Amino acid sequence: MAELQKVQLEEIFQCARCGYCCQGETTVSLDEDDQRRMIEELGLTREEVKEKYWRVTGTVVQMQIVDGHCIFYDKDSGCSVHKGRPWRCGQWPLHPSMLDDENNYITISASCPGINKELTYAEFCSKLQKLLKQEGKLIC
Ligand code: SF4
Ligand code: SF4
Repeated sequence: MAELQKVQLEEIFQCARCGYCCQGETTVSLDEDDQRRMIEELGLTREEVKEKYWRVTGTVVQMQIVDGHCIFYDKDSGCSVHKGRPWRCGQWPLHPSMLDDENNYITISASCPGINKELTYAEFCSKLQKLLKQEGKLIC
């Protein structure tokens, strides 16, 4: 049987580094693994990271916002904690919810210039589905 051709991430998405997804008055939340990875990447203690970079609301840990963007966003170099960024940042913008509802695709692709707009929704979904199958957890 002929091997199915692999899909490359670049066929559906290439980050334009516009920084739009790092803007706003709130950020994604960090799970336990995210917190551990970020602490390691920053080389600080948990208390120091919490004090300098996190906004903790009850059990929810998010990154602080400075001047309308995530504290780690730098307009010249992008994410300054790239290796230690939360997994939801790495997943963006290829959220599987786009496969369930075209409205999710429309909303996300309208806010992300990196998504290949030359594909139809059906073509985009087919490639994303194959990528998710190939890669398991897709980190952009
Ligand atoms: S993921 Fe999209 S919105 Fe975020 S920086 Fe890249 S192109 Fe811009
Ligand atoms: S951690 Fe990095 S990728 Fe995530 S919102 Fe902040 S600057 Fe953007």
